Amino acid sequence: MASRADWLNVSGRLEQYEEILGRETVDELRLVADRVRDRRLQNINSTPVGGGVAEILTRMIPMLNELGVEASWDVIKGDQAFFDVTKAFHNALHGKVERVTPEMFDVYRATLEENLRTMDFNGDVILLHDPQPAGLIQRKQEIGRRWVWRCHIDVSAPQADVWEFLRPYVEQYDAAVFSMPEFSQQLSIPQYLVAPSIDPLSDKNKELEPEQVDRVLEKYGIDRERPLLIQISRFDRLKDPLGVIAAYRMVKKRQPCQLVLAGGGAPDDPEGEQVLREVQEAAAGDPDIHVLLLPPFSDLEINALVRASTVVFQKSLKEGFGLTVSEALWKRKPVIGGAVGGIKQQIIEGVTGFLVYSVEGAATRAAQLLADEQMRRTIGENGHLHVKQNFLLTRHVKDYMLIMLALEHPREHIVYLD
Ligand code: UDP
Repeated sequence: MASRADWLNVSGRLEQYEEILGRETVDELRLVADRVRDRRLQNINSTPVGGGVAEILTRMIPMLNELGVEASWDVIKGDQAFFDVTKAFHNALHGKVERVTPEMFDVYRATLEENLRTMDFNGDVILLHDPQPAGLIQRKQEIGRRWVWRCHIDVSAPQADVWEFLRPYVEQYDAAVFSMPEFSQQLSIPQYLVAPSIDPLSDKNKELEPEQVDRVLEKYGIDRERPLLIQISRFDRLKDPLGVIAAYRMVKKRQPCQLVLAGGGAPDDPEGEQVLREVQEAAAGDPDIHVLLLPPFSDLEINALVRASTVVFQKSLKEGFGLTVSEALWKRKPVIGGAVGGIKQQIIEGVTGFLVYSVEGAATRAAQLLADEQMRRTIGENGHLHVKQNFLLTRHVKDYMLIMLALEHPREHIVYLD
């Protein structure tokens, strides 16, 4: 199990990236880093664990520091009422109908007021992730610095009342960053596109010995012989775990297989426990469905489970980027994903996996992949290459450093690196 102390102690990692990605990639990073060296990049989000943002920051902060950029990470504080409100905002921004009351906006404002009183804003660039901390921008005039809103979710078709509440905050930022062009909004501020990333050296993604994989399967009583379908996700309705169970049941009528649904909660997601109960009920009575509630920092176990799997699902109904897809592709696994959000960037239809629109579609593709080992192998190789070229941490860190540089040259169209 990894802990915070492990990931802070990471000097010498750049050389390891050279081994995987080649010298040029890392030299390029160093070149850009030279232009933003010693600047402070302060990240602020709403949870230290659980979910993609925490996952990325955990890996990105040490790499920035190793490159000479002083990166830090603060987490806003909020109570259950605040996270109920921000979860409703999250769903509403994704286009799900939510009843949002004036009192909920008051809860949001009051929590951010409280954080404004206690938080130290010390970055040269302050990068706030997602809607939860977005309202901290109120003190920008007084604090100064450059403020960037990093939106990881799709806000292209939001519920109007929530977006109209957030927009005045967002437009006070110096810039906004979205993961995909389709996620963005018409805004009066500059916008940048930056796809998320995974770290090939993390416990979640590094190569494992076969014995390590075996031990994890044994621990959870999973049969090594029969094909394994898997979805790794927080227990969240938008990840459609019940749809995955339904698809597995259809596949199982034709081929022997097992299903793992593994996930943990996130402190900023209050719905998790209820969804887990629904999943456990749906799985009850089938010993081949393994519902695993994993504690934070179960990265090696997740890595092992994915490596042991035959086909990976990410059957989301709505999605931000969906880091789990790149994590699986990197391990050369074919992925069946809901045709939503960033999953569409990662799955190239028939090349790195399959995009699906229904339970039936997911079941059909899973059965097809289970029956065709050569297809699985080809798709797996393609997926690995696609991630290597587009979705690794090195590219992500370079993009952020280039944004820091661009913010220092606000009226210049070209910034020279040498
Ligand atoms: N994850 C994890 N433990 C879990 C469930 C998920 O570590 O129990 C990780 C997963 O491997 C991925 C991230 O959390 O790195 C989820 O990111 P994604 O973008 O897929 O979804 P989000 O949870 O942010 O909606």
